[in-house]
Amino acid sequence: MRTPFSALPAFPAELGARLREWRHHLHQHPELAFQERETAAYLTEVLKAVGVEDVVTGVGGTGIVATLSRGTGGKAIGLRADMDCLPLQEAGSHGYRSRHDGTMHACGHDGHMTMVLGAAALLAEQGGFDGTVRFLFQPAEEPGRGAQAMMDDGLFERFPIDAIFGLHNIPGLAAGEFGTRTGPFLASEDNFEIRVVGRGGHAASPHLVVDPIVIGAEVVLALQTIVARTLDPSRSAVVSCTQFVTDGARNAIPNEVVIRGDTRSFTDEVREVLERRIRELAHGICAGHGATCQVTYTHEFDPTVNDAACVEAAVRAARDLLGEEHVDARCPVNLSSEDFGVFARHVPGCFAFIGNGTAPGEGGAPLHSTDYDFNDDILELGVRYYATLVRSLLTED
Ligand SMILES: [Zn+2]
Ligand SMILES: [Zn+2]
Repeated sequence: MRTPFSALPAFPAELGARLREWRHHLHQHPELAFQERETAAYLTEVLKAVGVEDVVTGVGGTGIVATLSRGTGGKAIGLRADMDCLPLQEAGSHGYRSRHDGTMHACGHDGHMTMVLGAAALLAEQGGFDGTVRFLFQPAEEPGRGAQAMMDDGLFERFPIDAIFGLHNIPGLAAGEFGTRTGPFLASEDNFEIRVVGRGGHAASPHLVVDPIVIGAEVVLALQTIVARTLDPSRSAVVSCTQFVTDGARNAIPNEVVIRGDTRSFTDEVREVLERRIRELAHGICAGHGATCQVTYTHEFDPTVNDAACVEAAVRAARDLLGEEHVDARCPVNLSSEDFGVFARHVPGCFAFIGNGTAPGEGGAPLHSTDYDFNDDILELGVRYYATLVRSLLTED
């Protein structure tokens, strides 16, 4: 049996004020991937102050796992927030702007941490569940390395959980609107680099060179046939070349060209096709022209694939809070990538979006822009969502 939201204790007024205070403090002290030391110290201090005593730091570098148990229930739920900021100079002029020059919370991870902190505070104070909640603060989401670092540090062996949940704010979606979907939700990101090695020479003597620019251009065009002519049209993927760099001069044909790019997709099977075809096309075209090439292909982010039962629980909690009309249980797939996907590969999970607002200055500025800011008005909703979710999954008899 789940507890209807209307039957839950009211949201403590002073917690609302503390949420803003925590968020603003975190916003003022942003730290880049794996450098979140002040952030971790602050989170630890707040967690202990709100009554969560079991706080383990240094998990996967600067990550934290805090644990709160009530009753005798054996199930454990993880609530995950990301800790790192971006190397951007904040443009906003509000009173709590970044005090660390050249870095800012431009992706709202300050808000995500605050929502998980708030859930810790609310659940520590009010209980209403039977089992264990683990509050996971992961470093280095932006480069997509922190989740794996925590797992390499024994995350799920040391702190077992049955399911994991996370939220990301979305500018452009009305404040507090909720969206998620079952199955593939966010894409994987892989990067590639193709080094085409020809033989440079005088621009006026094309017959004496092996021109890597012409060959590289052919490679770029051929890569566009992977999605159009190799993949099953019912599967989605993106192949984008993003850099084309030569070592030539205006009147000299260069020796080599480096093509860099990025691919997105939703399954391992499609990822393998993309990698294989990039290698085949690059090597084949280069060989056909008497050039050679080296191809590197790296996995940066796993796709985020949501578990059906976790999505059902998340949607139910969100509908209890927000009403049916504000919850989209089948929102479109999104080609951006999230480090949450690494966790969700190992335990059932649900990642969801929460609207950050649409108007400029009220949460509408895009993620990763220098005028972005997390919308404080959705903090309480995020906290209530997490608490409702925990109480519905870890029911008291
Ligand atoms: Zn980001
Ligand atoms: Zn983010």
